Amino acid sequence: MGRAFVYVILGGGVAAGYAALEFSKRGILPGELCIISEESVAPYERPALSKGFLLPEEPSRLPAFHTCVGTKEEKLRHKWYKEHGIELVLGTRVKSADVRRNTLTTTTGETISYRFLIIATGARALKLEECGIRDSDAENVCYLRNLADAMRLVDTMQNSAGGNAVVIGGGYIGMECAAALVTNRIKVTMVFPEPHCMAHLFTPKIADFYENYYASKGITFVKGTVLSSFEIGADDLVKAVILKDGARIQTDMVVVGIGIRANTTLFDNQLIIEKGGIKVNGYMQTSHKSVYAVGDVASFPIQLFGGDIRRLEHVDSARKTARHAVASIMAPEKRRDLDYIPFFYSRVFTLSWQFYGENRGQVVHYGNFVSGRFGAYWVKKRRIVGAFLEGGTSEEYEAISTVIRFRSPIEDMAQLEMLGVEFALQI
Ligand code: FAD
Ligand code: NDP
Repeated sequence: MGRAFVYVILGGGVAAGYAALEFSKRGILPGELCIISEESVAPYERPALSKGFLLPEEPSRLPAFHTCVGTKEEKLRHKWYKEHGIELVLGTRVKSADVRRNTLTTTTGETISYRFLIIATGARALKLEECGIRDSDAENVCYLRNLADAMRLVDTMQNSAGGNAVVIGGGYIGMECAAALVTNRIKVTMVFPEPHCMAHLFTPKIADFYENYYASKGITFVKGTVLSSFEIGADDLVKAVILKDGARIQTDMVVVGIGIRANTTLFDNQLIIEKGGIKVNGYMQTSHKSVYAVGDVASFPIQLFGGDIRRLEHVDSARKTARHAVASIMAPEKRRDLDYIPFFYSRVFTLSWQFYGENRGQVVHYGNFVSGRFGAYWVKKRRIVGAFLEGGTSEEYEAISTVIRFRSPIEDMAQLEMLGVEFALQI
């Protein structure tokens, strides 16, 4: 049994949705494009799962956050794909790929062939079992990667109302879920190995602001240690977590956010893998010329960093790499290398920050770390390479992104500190 398409997108997440929109804008014929996804719904904006989806009142639910509402474009519901003659093969996992023969085989035994393949398989949450922790499949231990996880998290929060939660990990999932849990009136203890939260991005001074803010909401931090085991009750649920230092924290539920692994396995011995992702060039083309990779699974050259290959795990890069791959496939005569500025953001409680570039070099903090109107620049070889801003306006965020695009030169660090966001607004 087999079907053939001109274009196949493997994976039905953020990147797939944006790629589909780009294909339709550039003009494809009905029946030319197919999207295969393990998930049972059309592509959606994954960031909603740790924000609006977890609100105790008027939570966001599909179809409200199908792609591409995240960039204020069309909302692509199931019927949009139908109307555009795009085949959505949902609830279907691809179990093998043969890059030389241009084919994919699904777990239902179907073979799907393509002229061009876009790999958009994203990533999976790293599991505690993989770190040697047993009983991490108990029903009140939650991960958060897809809609099914989010629904389970909501159920577990409801069953734990008025109780306690332990959040394992001090990264994005940990920070956003801890805020959501507290908003749902659950007391939170965050446990992570680093000396402060968001250790890969925040400086200690920036982290201090958020940790104090979280503490003011009743969140407790246990830093510099990791989980060693779970204490399981007669009902097979986790009752307490035991830390490496022997401490015991009683809990009604656990949320785990200890990082992700890109879904490269189908292509491990067929395409070049670098930095944990499928290596692509500036067109998002892999080591095989009819295969492209986009989003979390792709390791791509970043011109701003001198062409360094990086794998990013953020929604803006998923959207832009997806559109760029489609442009490269459909207009080969005009194709050019992607010039991408890394962009990360988060929103928790009433706080909101944005970051552009990279956090390397000398740091200059500015603003008011008490009121919550502050930021930082990272300066390398007398140029600004990274910019962070909490509580900015859209004009200010746009300004700091421009500073990074031009890698603005800087002579006087004291003046930069004094001017703060004004420096960016003057560019
Ligand atoms: P994904 O969106 O993960 O999609 C991958 C798709 O491939 C999935 O549908 C999966 O089921 C499918 N798939 C994988 N393997 C197979 C297979 N073998 N067969 C069939 N289908 C397969 N980023 C931000 O910048 N800001 C945020 O605020 C933010 N919040 C987030 C909140 C949460 C809860 C999560 C989990 C992530 C968040 N991110 C955020 C990260 C962002 O969502 C990802 O960077 C983005 O989703 C990556 O898009 P993608 O299409 O590459 O992968
Ligand atoms: P992150 O990489 O952000 O954070 C994981 C954290 O867990 C790291 O600080 C890591 O430390 C720590 N950790 C690792 N192992 C353990 C352990 N055994 N015990 C306790 N802590 C541990 O990943 P997340 O899981 O938080 O997020 C998953 C994905 O979701 C990411 O791709 C992220 O980009 C995305 N996401 C993005 C959001 C946003 O951009 N606003 C919001 C939500 C999710 P170390 O690195 O030292 O191992």
